[in-house]
Amino acid sequence: MTLARLRLAALVAVLCLAAAPFLVSSFSVTLLNYIGVYALVAIGLALLTGIGGIISFGQAAFVGIAAYSSAWVSAVSGYSPWLGLCLAVVLTCSVAAFLGLITLRLRGHFLSLSTIAWGLAIYFLFGNIPTLGNFNGIAAIPPIPIGSLKLSGSAQIYYLIWAIVVVCLVLSYNLLNSRMGRALRALRGGKILVESLGINAFRVKLAAFVIAAFLASLSGWLYAHLSTFISPSPFGAEMGIEYLMMAMVGGSGSPIGGVLGAALVTLLKNGIQDYLPLITKGASGELEIVVFSTLFILFLQRAPRGIVPFVARFMPQLRHVAPGTIAKLPVRAQPAPGYPLLIVQDVERRFGGLIAVNHVSFEVNAGEILGLIGPNGAGKSTMFNLLTGALRVGQGQITFAGQGICGQSQSHIARAGIARTFQHVKLRPRMTLLDNVLLGAHPRLHAGLLRGALRLDRVEEASAHAEALRQLARVGLSDDPFMLAGNLPLGKQRLLEIARALAADPLLLVLDEPAAGLRRQEKLRMAELLIALRDEHLTILLVEHDMEFVMGLVDRIVVMDFGSKLCEDAPAAIRADPRVQEAYLGSIA
Ligand code: ADP
Ligand code: MG
Repeated sequence: MTLARLRLAALVAVLCLAAAPFLVSSFSVTLLNYIGVYALVAIGLALLTGIGGIISFGQAAFVGIAAYSSAWVSAVSGYSPWLGLCLAVVLTCSVAAFLGLITLRLRGHFLSLSTIAWGLAIYFLFGNIPTLGNFNGIAAIPPIPIGSLKLSGSAQIYYLIWAIVVVCLVLSYNLLNSRMGRALRALRGGKILVESLGINAFRVKLAAFVIAAFLASLSGWLYAHLSTFISPSPFGAEMGIEYLMMAMVGGSGSPIGGVLGAALVTLLKNGIQDYLPLITKGASGELEIVVFSTLFILFLQRAPRGIVPFVARFMPQLRHVAPGTIAKLPVRAQPAPGYPLLIVQDVERRFGGLIAVNHVSFEVNAGEILGLIGPNGAGKSTMFNLLTGALRVGQGQITFAGQGICGQSQSHIARAGIARTFQHVKLRPRMTLLDNVLLGAHPRLHAGLLRGALRLDRVEEASAHAEALRQLARVGLSDDPFMLAGNLPLGKQRLLEIARALAADPLLLVLDEPAAGLRRQEKLRMAELLIALRDEHLTILLVEHDMEFVMGLVDRIVVMDFGSKLCEDAPAAIRADPRVQEAYLGSIA
């Protein structure tokens, strides 16, 4: 129902766009053209910055590379602008891929700073190449031909520009609702979670970076043939900042926000240029920037998340499960009960002089719940991190399902079948329960960027949705799969983490203190769930501080103290063991 309404709204918007050239002045059409051209860059930034959390000041440089490519091919060399488009896209995306490979491994501010650096570098490069007209630029860029028609008037190129914008918007939304799009949405909030789900964070970032550059290249190509003249100045760092402003004003978390932001910023700048001189009686042009910046700051004060979220508050929420005939996702064969699934042999890990894990050995057998307990500081979390690849093993061997996993990446270990939860819950609070669980299924799905954007992934998505709903039901969270994860109380957030881990179809589930911070009732619920999972032949390793929680639940217990293994036995024997009591009492004292 709501989906139908949304489609209707989109249809009306497209009809309005199509009718615009007949209804407004030709100056307004030109303005709309520039809005469309800028919007393409802003859509890219919505994906890259708003959703992926990667701030780039360098998009204007990508626009420039594309504009110069096509101008050089068509105006300087005399070939078709369509050939110009090919060069523009290939060159821009290659440069982006190269820069991405270098800079995307940098952390935090360094990445943004590096985008400023190469934004500036490319600007001066344009200005110093004689074939590209130095700082004078290239003039007399021919119009884009379609058959015998030349798109020379602003009303003619209008349809090409806005057709491209609409197509890119649709593809962006498709992408966001696909496997890779979910991974992109999950990037924000840190890569620890993303990697633990078997997602290659770097590859997702690089893809987002190249997609944003691709959109910028379309923009640059259109810009060159729309304005028929280019020089380095519209591709400088100032414009790079302005593109970011557009994405922010619109609502950086959504592609449509890019379009709205481009419109608002362009109209505002235009309005200021028109009306400011009337007020200031023709004072200098610099004042425009001051007024514009002030308005920008005021705006973000009122609506820090841009226009789109502001409008979205009044819109119905989209609740959509991919339809289709549902084939189940393939599942792994679980090992026979008793098979030594995880073998930890003589593992050691030091932090400087401190031995956090001191030659510890134990096994987890298929079909059991093994508890790893110990007082605070015993080395449980360190052991946990060694198993899941979050920390490197110093010495010793860890074998999982017959394969050595020491030295493997987190994401590789996750794909091998170890799914984990976190002592401090890691969810994506602004994603729905369904999407959070779908993230867990990422390695079981195959659709790449293109299949996602073109919606060729529907069959797989339908299976994935069915699987995610099944896992939500398994942990008792199927009431409202479209609720945002951030709205759940802690107990249910922990259950959601387990549903996400289950969606990966793991061989071994490792839980880091799943009872921490839970109320009594929630703890009981958690224990029931874990027992039910064990009865369904899942193998579980439970790292836990709370001895009472573990006692009634697990089949065997390994106790750690001061980094070493103290003992290993059935719960009753552990409870009676004076060494364990002493270790726990010692930690309280
Ligand atoms: P537990 O989870 O059993 O409470 P941890 O594995 O977190 O214990 O810690 C074991 C010991 O290792 C503690 O003394 C802790 O201070 C130390 N430790 C853990 N992580 C690090 C680290 N990254 N750097 C230095 N010391 C650490
Ligand atoms: Mg711990």
